[in-house]
Formats: sequence, structure tokens, C-alpha cells
Amino acid sequence: MIHLDAAATTPVRREVLEAMWPYLTGEFGNPSSHHALGDAAARALRAARATVAEWFGCRAADVVFTSGGTEGANLAVKGLALGSPRGRHVVLSAIEHPAVVESVDHLRRLHGFEVTVVPVDSAGLVDPAAFAAALRDDTTLATVMLANNEIGTVQPVTELAAIAHARGALFHTDAVQAAGWLDLRLDRLGADAVSISGHKLGAPKGIGAVAVRGRLPLEPVLHGGGQERGRRSGTENVAFAVGLARAVELAEPGRVAAAARATALRDEFVGEVLRRVDGAVLTGHPDARLPSIASFCFPGTAGEAVLLGLEERGVTVSSGSACAAGSDEPSPVLLAIGLDPAVARTAVRFAFGHDVTAADLGTAVQALEATLASLATLR
Ligand code: PLP
Repeated sequence: MIHLDAAATTPVRREVLEAMWPYLTGEFGNPSSHHALGDAAARALRAARATVAEWFGCRAADVVFTSGGTEGANLAVKGLALGSPRGRHVVLSAIEHPAVVESVDHLRRLHGFEVTVVPVDSAGLVDPAAFAAALRDDTTLATVMLANNEIGTVQPVTELAAIAHARGALFHTDAVQAAGWLDLRLDRLGADAVSISGHKLGAPKGIGAVAVRGRLPLEPVLHGGGQERGRRSGTENVAFAVGLARAVELAEPGRVAAAARATALRDEFVGEVLRRVDGAVLTGHPDARLPSIASFCFPGTAGEAVLLGLEERGVTVSSGSACAAGSDEPSPVLLAIGLDPAVARTAVRFAFGHDVTAADLGTAVQALEATLASLATLR
């Protein structure tokens, strides 16, 4: 099977599993325990935190381990908005992941926040002027994702964060899809908080991290024993944190080269699809996009049928976002970029991992042509 659904998830890398193994077996201690087993776990957690902090370019104390991207978004969005005394207004883009959208909606429903949604253009980009206009004196937090999970568009986050700061608002970015492809250092992004998820990066599902700049007040979402400096209670998932750190160590040194390689393969793939498939439409921004995501609409088909046809031919993809799976509704992201609902239902996302090859993509183009041809004969 050729896995072109890496934006949904990636397999755990062998080196990651090997790094985790001791902390699932012999060194199984609880970092809070006052004996040798506990000390060993605490040391491993400290080392993992240091590695992840270096990746974010922040202090170790600024890293909070979470159960993944959803919890990270909940913690950053609710935690910063409720932790800051400034006001009760939040700004987000129109193409945020449900983890952010629903966290903001929670603030609206249960805490009386007002919410402004900033639209995006047909390429999925937030217009900095529209973003600036949405900010108010009582805006506590603005949250705009670094890269979109469905269309791959990369936002001008550094510029947006500077605009938010000029108005006194905090800025969070959901960098789940960007991890392993883009620079996530807080000072480069200018963000106050960045959230990521391990399973997009060769670590297991169920681990993630949020980097929160300095000593910003962060209201916890999980209450309990006060682990993670009171920011996220619950016995720490030591083995998975070690795994996340190992995945970062493996990905970061070669990240720029991997991104350049994937970008070249992606551009070739996009060119081939557009050349060989009549009526195919590339969604997202032509240049400001992740190296790893190429999403198309194939008007006149159904995305789900194309997905099944590709699977029969050995290629796994997604029709829209796996995170919103189980619903027949057209994707809100595709509607937000102005697609007609009927066209949005024809969306198919190809998302590469770091190990993608030109041969894989060649096979995928052939499988796509064959799938579309067989669907056309059915009509
Ligand atoms: N944010 C984005 C942009 C995502 O793509 C996803 C998952 O696909 C998430 C958040 C949620 O992450 P997790 O699956 O780790 O909860």
C-alpha cells in the first residue's frame, strides 16, 4: 500500500519505538515517585522536555506535554483566553481545525466570549489587513493555524502574530500539520503558544506538546495532581514523551532538505495530475503551501468514490479531512475558500510522508487516472 494520507497519521518510527520501549517495561516508574525507579522516569522526562524545548527554541519550563493536537489546542486556546485578564474577545481564521473551532466555541458558550472569524481568500490565506481589523481593545487571543490540514495553505503567521501583539492580544498557532516541515521556533513564528501532535511526525498517537512563551498565565484544562507545573495534571506519559523527543531528533536535522525534496516531488505530482486529469482543480495556495499536501477537486466525481477507487489500486488518500470523517457534509474549509458545495464534495487530499518517492507518486497518478476513467464509465 502507498500511504498518501500522512496528514491523517504516520506510522511510529522504529527508532522512536526503541527509545520508548525501556520506559514501557523495566523503567516504568512514575516521575513523581521518590525512589530510583521514579528518578529514572523523571530524568527521561526532563531529557525529552529539553529536546522538545530546543525544537521550539524555548525554555524547558515552557513545554507542556499533552495527549495530542486536540488537547494542545484546547489548552492553548482556553488556557490563554481564560488565564489572561485582558478581555473576552477571541479572533480565529475561518479554516481552523475543529480542535480550535470548538475550543473557541466553548469560550463563547460557557464563558461569554465574543468571537470574530476572519475570512480567507480563495487560496485559503488570511488577509493581514482583515485580521488587523478584527482585533479589538478587548481581544485576549488570536489563533491562526500555521498550515491547513486539508489544503496545505501556510499562513503568514509571523506577520499576523506581530499585528496581534501590536494590539496587545496573545497569539496561538496550531502547528500540527507543519511539524517536521516548517521551522516551529517561537521567536521565528512570533507566537505566544504553538501546539503540535506526535502522530504526524513518527511518534505514537496520544502524545503532543504545547510551547507557551515565558510565564504567561495559562488556566489548566485538566485539574488534579499538579504535574507539568500545574498546567496539565495527570501522571506524565513518560514513554510517549521520550518517543516524541526521539521523533523530533530524527526529523529536525534534515528538515530543510526533506522539505525541499518533498516540494519538488509535490510540484511534479501536481503538474502531472493537472496535465492528465481534465477539469482537475488544485485547492490551496500555489506557493504558500506545505511541501507534503496536494489537494484537488475532481468536479463530476465524488471524493469518497475516488478514495475507494484509489484504495483498490493500492493508494490510501483522504477525501477531505480524516479529523472530520464520518460526515457527508462538505468540508467547512473548502466552503470557506469559496468552493461550491457540490465541488467541495469532490475533494481528494494526497499527503506525503518524509519517505515518499517519485515512483510512489507515479503509481498514484496512474491509479488516479484509472479510477477516474472507471468512474466515468459508470456515469
Ligand atoms: N490540528 C490540526 C491542523 C490537525 O490536522 C489535527 C489532526 O489531524 C489536529 C489539530 C488534532 O490533532 P490530534 O489528532 O493529535 O488530536
